[in-house]
Amino acid sequence: MAELSANVRMIKGIGEQRAKALGKLGIVTLRDLIGWFPRRYEDRRSVKRIMDLIPGESACVAAMIASPPQLSHVRRGMDLVKVRAVDESGVLDVTFFNQTWLKNQLQQGETYLFYGKAEGSLLRKTMASPVVEPEGRCETTGRIVPIYPLAAGVSQLILSRSIRQGLDACVDILPDTLPDQIRQEHHLCRIGYAYENIHFPEDEKALELSRRRLAFEELFFFTIGLAHLRRRRAVIHVPPCIAVDMAPFYAALPFSLTAAQRRCVEEALADMCSGIPMNRLVQGDVGSGKTMVAAACVYFVVKNGSQAALMAPTEILAQQHYAGLAPLLGKLGVRCALLTGSTPAKEKHTVTTQLSGGEVDFAIGTHALIAGEVEYANLGLVITDEQHRFGVMQRAALSGKGAHPHTLVMSATPIPRTLALILYGDLEVSVIDQLPPGRRSIATYAVPGSYRPRVYAFLRKLVAEGRQVYIVCPMVEENDELPDERKAVTAYARMLREEVFPDLRVVSVHGKMKPREKEAVMTAFAAHDADILVATTVIEVGVDVPNAAVIVVENAERFGLSQLHQLRGRVGRGTHQSYCILISDTQNDETRQRLKVMTQTTDGFRIAEEDLRLRGPGDFFGARQHGLPGLKIADIGCDTQLLKEAQQAAEALLAQDPELRSCPAAAQRVGELFTQAADTLN
Ligand code: ADP
Ligand code: MG
Repeated sequence: MAELSANVRMIKGIGEQRAKALGKLGIVTLRDLIGWFPRRYEDRRSVKRIMDLIPGESACVAAMIASPPQLSHVRRGMDLVKVRAVDESGVLDVTFFNQTWLKNQLQQGETYLFYGKAEGSLLRKTMASPVVEPEGRCETTGRIVPIYPLAAGVSQLILSRSIRQGLDACVDILPDTLPDQIRQEHHLCRIGYAYENIHFPEDEKALELSRRRLAFEELFFFTIGLAHLRRRRAVIHVPPCIAVDMAPFYAALPFSLTAAQRRCVEEALADMCSGIPMNRLVQGDVGSGKTMVAAACVYFVVKNGSQAALMAPTEILAQQHYAGLAPLLGKLGVRCALLTGSTPAKEKHTVTTQLSGGEVDFAIGTHALIAGEVEYANLGLVITDEQHRFGVMQRAALSGKGAHPHTLVMSATPIPRTLALILYGDLEVSVIDQLPPGRRSIATYAVPGSYRPRVYAFLRKLVAEGRQVYIVCPMVEENDELPDERKAVTAYARMLREEVFPDLRVVSVHGKMKPREKEAVMTAFAAHDADILVATTVIEVGVDVPNAAVIVVENAERFGLSQLHQLRGRVGRGTHQSYCILISDTQNDETRQRLKVMTQTTDGFRIAEEDLRLRGPGDFFGARQHGLPGLKIADIGCDTQLLKEAQQAAEALLAQDPELRSCPAAAQRVGELFTQAADTLN
């Protein structure tokens, strides 16, 4: 038996190299290893007869090799091993690419299990590079096989073998972290059974039982952890802000705030006067004017004698916030500074000195704001924009730069209620449920690629009227496996310049450009020095160019609904009628349905709910990017019922035993999940 904290090196077959590769996945200890859950499973149980193989479907067959394997050299870097396999029902021709060792390994007259996609015709069946194993010694065929997320140097087989050994070493000593009574009340299986069957499921039933148990556990501890964080914050006291005359701020704005914006501002100011650190989320659809709510809070805090910081997820966005807010707040006596990764060293030095010396009141920037050397004289308010891009830890890191600063989180991702419950369990929420006046709804169309000539003609017309255009392509390089060159930003922009709009000003921007170059292009576009901006999704969050009236999205099928909604939010920010054109040749029904939703509604909440229904929550928050500790199995989109059960169980337990004295294993688990976060989050 081994300690869970033991290094994975203790496992036979894991040497220095492999340990290093596993480390890249975050797998260091035995606990990490057995907690590396499969991403999905392949059912390779039913073994078919060759005759019953259906071209296009993956299946397992048991067949004997009928003639010696043939090795042929096709060209440099391409060797084939071909074998003919037979069973009582027919013949299967199997080809392996670049696996020359199989020539000697596969024995004529022996029976093997092959798992792969059947191809060929009904009469002549073939398989290309299937998984192959000698019958009777099968690890990855003839059963439900776990498929793990991988990294370079770690194959499926290595992982599943290592996990097998890891489980054997510790499955009997796994502490059952769920209190027994709760486990029984909710019909949850034991921890050992759950770990065994999540990795090597006996059958579907066992897999589902295990998944349910592990997901419940995650949601249960997550709820308890959040409750702890909330309680901690409630006992922290900070000097309350005092009321400030906001009239000069409102007078300096070029417009009056909407009622919804005002309400959000009031809610936030009330928090800051309460004597307990504010922890508030401002949720508002794209274009609802979150920035001004933030600006009001900054003004308020600075007039209270503290500093404020605003962290944006991209250079472009930080730059834009600075360009918009510095002149406005500067007029009101707020000294602003910009700090990003591309701020030149000398300037960076000046800004950090001014921040630590209290000569700057408001810092706007990117992650650079939380770099180790950056100190604040008196940080009283921390704002993160488009928060779904930041994890809990990053928020915490910025907060850690002050003594319990107030935090305001702004998000444009409308989050369905079930999801908000768990994602923002520790935040108060304000909603800006109103757009500034004069906005017209964005006309949205989904069209096939054959419409491009018409789309281009339409763009030309709008440009002639003085408007600007975004065209979004899904990727940066031309070496993507997709054949259509128009889909790559650089090539697309060149094609437009040379063939379609030689007389218009076409610029392009993508994620691989240097920040300074990106910034230059964006600034030029914002200043109307260009008509058409071809871009990747770097423009997805927050970019604000009110004169842009149309956005064209190529390969629209590649984007999730929430992402498309964000992209569409780049237009319709001024008073011009705006358009969103989604180009896609997809034949896939689900995808077509997704695009149709876009054409039917501009309501972000409805879109978010559809998205959740169609794709699950992964689209909102990359599975591991949401920054929530310990949610690896629970699917916050689909496990709503389980979430309710787990929350009720957690609340009942906390009401009875707030310190979890009666269940030390549970207390320890919460500690492991939340200590780090709690230390900085408070
Ligand atoms: P988002 O909520 O997407 O961050 P922004 O804060 O970028 O939205 O605001 C979108 C646009 O609306 C900006 O150009 C901003 O100046 C403008 N705006 C914000 N509030 C108002 C308002 N009350 N009246 C008119 N325009 C506004
Ligand atoms: Mg914004």
